[in-house]
This record gives sequence, C-alpha cells and structure tokens, in this order.
Amino acid sequence: MTSTVLTVATMGEAARAVAQGATFFGGGTIVMRDVNAGTAAASIVRTTDPSLKDVRISGDTVTLGAGVTMANVLANRDLEFLHPVARLVGGPQVRNMGTVGGNLFAPHPYGDFAVALLALGARVVLAGQGGARPIDDLLRDRSRSPGLVAAVEVSRPRPGTFGFLKVSRIRPKGVSVLSVSALLPREGGRIRGARVAWGAMGPGPQRGASAERALEGQSLNAETIGRAAATAAEGLNPATDAVATDWYRREVAGVHLKRMLEQMERG
Ligand SMILES: Cc1cc2nc3c(=O)[nH]c(=O)nc-3n(C[C@H](O)[C@H](O)[C@H](O)COP(=O)(O)OP(=O)(O)OC[C@H]3O[C@@H](n4cnc5c(N)ncnc54)[C@H](O)[C@@H]3O)c2cc1C
Repeated sequence: MTSTVLTVATMGEAARAVAQGATFFGGGTIVMRDVNAGTAAASIVRTTDPSLKDVRISGDTVTLGAGVTMANVLANRDLEFLHPVARLVGGPQVRNMGTVGGNLFAPHPYGDFAVALLALGARVVLAGQGGARPIDDLLRDRSRSPGLVAAVEVSRPRPGTFGFLKVSRIRPKGVSVLSVSALLPREGGRIRGARVAWGAMGPGPQRGASAERALEGQSLNAETIGRAAATAAEGLNPATDAVATDWYRREVAGVHLKRMLEQMERG
C-alpha cells in the first residue's frame, strides 16, 4: 500500500491527524520498516515542532519530549541515570533515530526504554490533553491508540534505588531475551513502594507483581532477593520467538532478577 506523509509544524496539528487515524512518525525505525514492507497506514504524520525534542529539568523531575532520541539521552549528562538503558537500545543508527515516544509503542521484544520508564513510575503527557497520566495506563493496552504522546515525566531516582538489566544473545545490540528494571525506594532501610517491570515477558512492558510483593516492606538482602527471584515468573506470559522460547524466558527470569537485585544491593 502507498502511504501519504504529511509534515506539520505543530503538535496540535499532528495530534489532530493522529486522532483521525494517521500513524505518527517519531524516529521511524519501526514505521519505515512497515513502509518498506508495504504494511504501513495510508496516512503518516510527522512534525517539526521543536518542543518534541525538549528536555526540561525541574528539581528532581525530568521531562523528556517524546521526540528525544536515545542518542540525545546519552549526550545529556543530566540524564545519567538513564544512560545504562539508552545504551542498550539497538546499535548506533537505531539510537540516533529511535525516540522515547516510539519506544513506548515498540512491539515485542522491543521497548527496553519503556520498561525502565515503567519501573520508574513515569507519567505520560498527551498532546492537547492537560495533565500527565501514569505510564502504567498507557502500557496496559497499547492496541488502543491513546493519541499523540508529547512528553514523558520521570522523577530522578535516589542513588542505589534504580536498576536495569537487559539480556540478549548478541552484545551489546541484540534484541531482548528479556529486560528487567526496578525502583526500590527505602524508608528506614525497608523497601517502600517497590516497582519491578519486565520486557519481553508478555505482549509489552509490564509490572512484576509477584516480585514486588516479595520485596515490599523488606530489607534488600540475600534472603529477600532469593524470595523475589523464586516467584519472578509468576503471572508472566512470555512468547516464543526467534530469540527464545516462552519456557526459556520463564526459566531464566528469576536468575536475571536476582543478578540485577544483587547489583543494586552492592550499590
Ligand atoms: C535493527 C533494530 C534494532 C532495534 N533494537 C531495539 C532494542 O534493542 N531495544 C528496543 O527497545 N527497541 C529496539 N528497536 C526498536 C526501535 O528502534 C526502538 O524501540 C525505538 O525507540 C522506536 O522509536 P521510533 O521513534 O523509531 O519509533 P517509530 O518507528 O517512529 O514509531 C513506532 C510506533 O510508535 C508510534 N509513535 C512514535 N512516537 C509516538 C508518539 N510521540 N506518540 C504516539 N505514538 C508514537 C508510531 O506511530 C509507531 O506506531 C530496534 C529496531 C531496529 C530496526
């Protein structure tokens, strides 16, 4: 199918086109593949609105425009906590083009950056709609277009409370066997408000409820880590693909959660 590409100057115009069924073109690393395969939507919209590339920092809150690329993240010293994540998204060409907004909608087994944002409890700002909503809501049902994502807000984690680990067969740029991320804030040495997120362990990035239950209210020590690892795969429903079988993904989930938590424990 032939696609028509419309370039507009503002987010508002792009949001209206998306509301009418156009596919938004972020960095195009996935959309262009569909164009080349002849499976893209009939109407594609992109915008030159500079706000899409804004990075704003206010206290501990970081706001990333949806058009910020992985390479932009890596070039920004204020975003150091996200560097270990952005560095593992594809190779240099993909990182130069691939955006934060596009990563939220990247199909399985992609979406590594979205996994980290989910663990961090990010909030998503939709163009033309006031306020920011939890990323959990957006990721829960990605089949329904929420509209155009303008930006993502995320609170900078305290040192030692955030972890991310990606497992791939080809390093450093292979796609995920799985990815896992956690935010473990502490109060009086106990974990309060544990968030664990998985990638490639289901249709899209998702919370790891069983691991969160095992961690919540506990100290981060070998015993707690062992309990979280033992229940890691509960409630997860990974797919079999060219990278790994569903069985393998479930088998190794606990091992990799344990590795990430041990790294966080060491600080
Ligand atoms: C060779 C290769 C390797 C890759 N490796 C990885 C990897 O290791 N890890 C990983 O996570 N991903 C990987 N990807 C997938 C992809 O490159 C990234 O996920 C990237 O971040 C997608 O962003 P994009 O801007 O290019 O998306 P696009 O192709 O522009 O868009 C993807 C989808 O998101 C929608 N979209 C984009 N921006 C918005 C927005 N602001 N609001 C609403 N919808 C939007 C589009 O309409 C489209 O449906 C890889 C891709 C390729 C081709």
